Amino acid sequence: MPELPEIQAHAERLDTQFAGTPLAGFTALSFTALKTAAPSPETAVGQQLIFVGRRGKYLLADFGMLTFVIHLMQGGRLKPDPKRSAKPRGGVARWTFADDRAWLLTEAGTERKAGVWIVAGDPEAQEPLAHLGPEADTVTAAVLAGLFVARPMRLHGFLREQRIVAGLGRRLANEICHRARLSPFANTGKLERVQAEVVAEAIRTCVNESLAYERGRTDMSSSAERPGHVHHREGEPCPECGDTVRAVEYRSYTVNYCPNCQTGGRLLADNTTSKFLK
Ligand SMILES: [Zn+2]
Repeated sequence: MPELPEIQAHAERLDTQFAGTPLAGFTALSFTALKTAAPSPETAVGQQLIFVGRRGKYLLADFGMLTFVIHLMQGGRLKPDPKRSAKPRGGVARWTFADDRAWLLTEAGTERKAGVWIVAGDPEAQEPLAHLGPEADTVTAAVLAGLFVARPMRLHGFLREQRIVAGLGRRLANEICHRARLSPFANTGKLERVQAEVVAEAIRTCVNESLAYERGRTDMSSSAERPGHVHHREGEPCPECGDTVRAVEYRSYTVNYCPNCQTGGRLLADNTTSKFLK
């Protein structure tokens, strides 16, 4: 899933190319595309795109009176759409602009989870953004230490919980735990203040590295292209120490870690009943 760096760089690309252009129309191409019943997208027709931004893993297209809040989920992509075919493969929604350009939101696969919320007024005060925690890369060690105490859980799950800190997913959670040299299963309720500083720094480092990589591209990377030390590198040597990167498999994601760097050499195994449920 695209995370904070991928979404941020993509918002910047779309903003550079499209800001200032008036909207000519919005069409939902799948019946699951639009997540809100009101206001009508027609309200934004004729309004200039003020900016394309990001909050958490959401893209925001601000047309002044209305904001389109777009979630790509796992396989969604929002791209310029020069072809404008009548039934695009995986088509979810299309925006057309007054200068005859367009955006197409597509979603690969059959999940049908990518979608668009249309909101009037401050989008940050409304769903789906209102419940999000602070932006992960700007959270301070002091705030993080407070969140650790308030939400005791495994560090990997903590980092992925959008209501606690927004913008991180499975890949960055793996990379941040490795960078911080902490077990992905470390209980946040037991971490010390100094470890909050280490994690806050690891978040910024991992986000900034991915952001630099992503800004150097002309389109969003695929998950296999993204840089990393442990994510999806099971069996490979850890670039820090040479130990073998290990994995704990869940149904919908994999926790990758280096035993030597992160767990004092101990191998992790999931022993909870949730193993095959989530
Ligand atoms: Zn290592």
